[in-house]
Amino acid sequence: MSVSSKKVSVIGAGVGGMAIAIRLSVKGYKVSVFESNSHVGGKLSQIESGDFRFDAGPSLFTMPELVDELFQLANKDPREFFNYQKLDESCRYFYEDGTHIIGYTDPQKFAEESANKTGVDASAVLKHLKKSQFIYDSTAFLFLQKSLHSIKTYLSLKVLKSFLKLPFLGVFGSMHLANHNALSNDKMVQLFDRYATYNGSNPYIAPAILNIIPHLEFNKGAFFPNKGMYSISLALHDLAVSLGVQFNLNSKVDEILLERKKVKGVVVNKEAILSDYVISNLDIFFTYKNLLKNQFASKMIAKQERSTSALIFYWGVNNTFPTLDLHNIFFSADYKKEFEVLNAAKAIYHDPTVYVNITSKKNSLDAPENCENWFVMINVPSNENQNWDELIIKAKASIIKKLNCQLTTDLEPLILSEEILDPRKIESKTGSYKGSLYGTASNKKMAAFFRHPNFSNDIRGLYFCGGSVHPGGGIPLALSSAKIVDDFFST
Ligand SMILES: Cc1cc2nc3c(=O)[nH]c(=O)nc-3n(C[C@H](O)[C@H](O)[C@H](O)COP(=O)(O)OP(=O)(O)OC[C@H]3O[C@@H](n4cnc5c(N)ncnc54)[C@H](O)[C@@H]3O)c2cc1C
Repeated sequence: MSVSSKKVSVIGAGVGGMAIAIRLSVKGYKVSVFESNSHVGGKLSQIESGDFRFDAGPSLFTMPELVDELFQLANKDPREFFNYQKLDESCRYFYEDGTHIIGYTDPQKFAEESANKTGVDASAVLKHLKKSQFIYDSTAFLFLQKSLHSIKTYLSLKVLKSFLKLPFLGVFGSMHLANHNALSNDKMVQLFDRYATYNGSNPYIAPAILNIIPHLEFNKGAFFPNKGMYSISLALHDLAVSLGVQFNLNSKVDEILLERKKVKGVVVNKEAILSDYVISNLDIFFTYKNLLKNQFASKMIAKQERSTSALIFYWGVNNTFPTLDLHNIFFSADYKKEFEVLNAAKAIYHDPTVYVNITSKKNSLDAPENCENWFVMINVPSNENQNWDELIIKAKASIIKKLNCQLTTDLEPLILSEEILDPRKIESKTGSYKGSLYGTASNKKMAAFFRHPNFSNDIRGLYFCGGSVHPGGGIPLALSSAKIVDDFFST
């Protein structure tokens, strides 16, 4: 049977789902995407509130080449679909004692700024970033680009070389310890520890292999899509449609149909839709629990620790703040305590680290004149039925107190509009188990190996992509998961 007569059902139009739909469509398969929401993008969506526009979820764009690659595979010019700019500053950092560091993306400039503001040795910062690059170059091929669960992977010489290097990279101690040993400066250690939150982990226990993340931001670069993060979703959708992918919105899949341990298709609105392959882009826990009715597998997944979730206030602010840029972090005074409360007590610290993202700094259309669109986020535990309504009120008061103090302002009267996203809503809007942002946590040394594979071991024709399976959460990894699934399909 030729590829062109083979049908693929993709469940979920998150970035991972759209990426695999594009890839298989380029290979000639007939692809249909079923999405329960009325829009594509999943976590990568947007919110409109009054005259303000907000990116709802992801705000930091790294490794844009993984998006461009999808257009190039289809022989299209990515710039005709969407465009982005490289940022000179990745983030502005504000500390409780008034210290303010600009995170220039140029490593030399960042090292000098760090030395001027904190007294750290500039050469230690540069050396640490070089080490980050070295770990990335030594391990990315194995951990990010290949299936860790397929025997074929381990037959490659390149993979073998990656494995042999692991014991010499110093990546099995904690991130915090590696940062402390390299920098010996509390402020800089806190700044580098923050990268653990990029996949919802705790720097005090997560393995130092996560120290590859600063390399992505500083050496490879941080980017901003000119029309906001949501334009990534729209561009992928447009590309997929141009290739003939059929999108079915408002189409919740209720079941994956099986026959003698092989997929047969999906059930949508009580209708059976037959296909040769099924690729699930939704959270692996719900794939097993709801679509495969496999209670045993879902219980095993539920035993794994979840990554953190987020509490986000989307504020339309009636003023402009020149000291702020696109990405801004206001650190807590005691980072270790903050993570203890977050991870052990599953609660919100009274002085949380606050992230403020303002896309109107780059795209003036996102807010009216003399106003700004503030996406104000703190890390919170995944949903364990905490009293969120009470926690939200308390967290809002702590955030406003902190920002008022750091920016010498009175924020509350400036807030013209407000929307709120919490772990409960993240679960109901995107199907992410317990509202976690990045699937299972990466706190354990062998976490990468415990993430669910991209294929089913016992059901033929069933594959998985997206942030809850290998290689992990975040846009670049969700796109990489699609690339790994693609490798299983012939042309
Ligand atoms: C607040 C927040 C901030 C983040 N910040 C960043 C960041 O700065 N940078 C970064 O790279 N990443 C960030 N992330 C993570 C990133 O958004 C995700 O890892 C990535 O978007 C996940 O994509 P995915 O392919 O797994 O699909 P998802 O976005 O999880 O989409 C899954 C889709 O499946 C659909 N679905 C669920 N059930 C069904 C069903 N039964 N039938 C049909 N469809 C169904 C859902 O509606 C959804 O559209 C953030 C996430 C959040 C929520």
